[in-house]
Amino acid sequence: MNVEVAASLREAGAGAPMGAAVPKIAELGIVGAGQMGNGIAHVAALAGLSVTLLDVKAEALEKAMATMARNMDRQVNRKLIAAEDRDAALARIATTTDYAGFAEADLVIEAATEKEEVKRVVFRTLIPHLKPACMLASNTSSISITRLGASTDRPEKFIGMHFMNPVPMMKLVEIIRGIATDEPTFQAVDGLARRLGKTTAVAEDFPAFIVNRILVPMINEAVYALYEGVGSVTAIDTSMKLGANHPMGPLELADFIGLDTCLSIMQVLYEGLSDSKYRPCPLLVKYVEAGWLGRKTGRGFYDYAQTPPRPTR
Ligand code: NAD
Repeated sequence: MNVEVAASLREAGAGAPMGAAVPKIAELGIVGAGQMGNGIAHVAALAGLSVTLLDVKAEALEKAMATMARNMDRQVNRKLIAAEDRDAALARIATTTDYAGFAEADLVIEAATEKEEVKRVVFRTLIPHLKPACMLASNTSSISITRLGASTDRPEKFIGMHFMNPVPMMKLVEIIRGIATDEPTFQAVDGLARRLGKTTAVAEDFPAFIVNRILVPMINEAVYALYEGVGSVTAIDTSMKLGANHPMGPLELADFIGLDTCLSIMQVLYEGLSDSKYRPCPLLVKYVEAGWLGRKTGRGFYDYAQTPPRPTR
């Protein structure tokens, strides 16, 4: 569907009438306490929201609380926030493995693993616990918001809210309407992103939206350059840092994002756009099969057990 068709369908009445009240968001639920979930909880709690963070794994929740405390300590040390702000923010975050904790949520942001089946199970399990007015957002990097929204009981209250990693540092949030998303939901979620200190960019619901449509094929190409022997890990990352003025090399960035997430995004682009230029590099597939997912598992294109991290090829 092209941009104009999507816009005219929206104008044709998908969603609530213009001028309908914008829902308030005070209670936030987050599903998935990984690198993105804990970052979103961090900025939301500092902005004064009550946050309930859920994960299937209790240890992911413990790790997330420790990460947020450490990251907020760093902000205190840099005098970006006061110690009382840190303490108040951490006190506003509850953790749970039970979806019943979302009963009062005004918005739930899903930030679970980038697999459509996982996200569908999350929504199926979550919905019976929500109040009817609760809005739903997905932080998916690439999966269709319209399709995810259609798998719920409230596609008009469903939206893409794509934060960047690391959330406390990165200024952008992409906002993606599904075809059925109503205007009050868009306004509420766009307003929330601004309240969290972010700048928003609106992307249409095409595979991988804007940032990852451009960024992840570049990363995949860097993995091809490594696979084909064009350069070593160090040569490729140095080239892009010093030759293109990128703050991180593409392989370092791939490790930072997570190689499983990069691979999932390439698969969504490949399948969603049916174009062979998006085929995932076999070396990227092999790293993911090995469980070498980057920083989060301690090994990817670099070995993080070494200081400084040592290239693995
Ligand atoms: P991650 O692997 O760090 O964390 C995912 C978390 O989801 C894990 O803690 C896992 O236990 C949990 N989880 C898995 N299944 C679950 C379920 N059924 N219910 C509840 N929790 C479940 O991944 P991440 O990097 O935080 O990515 C999360 C989402 O954010 C993905 O959709 C990803 O595409 C998106 N995203 C990632 C980045 C990035 O740079 N990593 C950037 C923007 C968006």
